[in-house]
Amino acid sequence: MTAELNPPQRILMGPGPSDVAPSVLRAMAIPLLGHLDPAFLQIMNETMDLLRKVYQTDNKLTIAMSGTGSAGMETVFVNLVEPGDKVIIGVNGLFGTRMVDVAERCGATVIPITAPWGEIIPPKAVEEALRLHPETKLVGIVHAETSTGVRQPLDEISEIVHRTEALLICDMVTSIGGCPTEVDKHKIDAAYSGTQKCLSAPPGLAPVTMSEKALEVINQRKTKVQSWYLDLSMIQSYWSDERAYHHTAPISMVYSLREALRLIVKEGLENVFERHERYGTALHLGLEAMGLELLVAKEHRLHQLTSVRIPQGVDDAAVRKELLERYGLEIGGGLGDLKGQIWRIGLMGYNARQTNVTLFLAALEDVLRNQGYEMTAGAGVQAANRYLTK
Ligand SMILES: *Cc1c(COP(=O)(O)O)cnc(C)c1O
Repeated sequence: MTAELNPPQRILMGPGPSDVAPSVLRAMAIPLLGHLDPAFLQIMNETMDLLRKVYQTDNKLTIAMSGTGSAGMETVFVNLVEPGDKVIIGVNGLFGTRMVDVAERCGATVIPITAPWGEIIPPKAVEEALRLHPETKLVGIVHAETSTGVRQPLDEISEIVHRTEALLICDMVTSIGGCPTEVDKHKIDAAYSGTQKCLSAPPGLAPVTMSEKALEVINQRKTKVQSWYLDLSMIQSYWSDERAYHHTAPISMVYSLREALRLIVKEGLENVFERHERYGTALHLGLEAMGLELLVAKEHRLHQLTSVRIPQGVDDAAVRKELLERYGLEIGGGLGDLKGQIWRIGLMGYNARQTNVTLFLAALEDVLRNQGYEMTAGAGVQAANRYLTK
């Protein structure tokens, strides 16, 4: 017989999924309601209200799509793009690359703006691309590039895009709940995210928000949205007073998202962002005190996801294996252009805490020493603690 499920305990400090807060896990164990039960409709309304708070928007269409972050990406593109449309996409990491793929599958002609992995997309490049392609329908940009640890500033790009008729689309999968995602302030026309990064819920929902202007573009489509499952015109009717059945909502996931968002709003958005900044900075200082080099320039670093260069002569896979097996710690390796060159360390949501910073730095020191990498004993933990007690 197959034994009862009993996986090992881990601390998930990679690029996601991150650890889930205990009350979020408990919410998932609550018995189901029917997806048209008035009590569940109430829970959906509360979830939408909480999502608007965390997205910092008044957008009416602010809902959780069924599926992971990539389903959010796909939702935005299948609904806004029609075959032959021109779109500009910033590509400075894996998720910009994925956006291009998704947009092309929708029949878009993509104008990519590339930047080296680990750097931001220069606003001037967006300006130039829009000048060369004035008929562009939308500009897609990744706010928090999880494959590199770069945080893309949005003010200038937003200003540039809105000098034209184009829509601004933003991937906020890793930024939501970890740093400000000011959808209204930055006039972002459509944004999507996922539940398993800084929201600290399990993977399975993709919160999406759309401006009135974006909805207008959808209303004026000449062709049907090619995905039945992700067609917002129908899903909207379920997440509104109409409550028309489209597909069965993943009830337990909605419970978990509502609780995860409730925790964020209860702590206070500013406090949540400050906590990420505080422990992320402590981690950065600790790593540097160990003689390690961070990939991203200080002013563009994310705090919820840190990428650090693997020192010469150190075995990438062996270090991650030892962290996992001896400390129960999961971190991420590099992707694409950065495969084998960096580690990615997440301090996302519930995990952005002092104990995780110090445990990780101590564990990494031990594991690196086994690889022959020399450093002053305790330097990482000391630097982090010095900053945290200041
Ligand atoms: C994780 C991630 C995605 C994809 O989300 P999945 O939940 O893996 O489908 C998209 N964009 C960014 C920036 C991400 O970090």
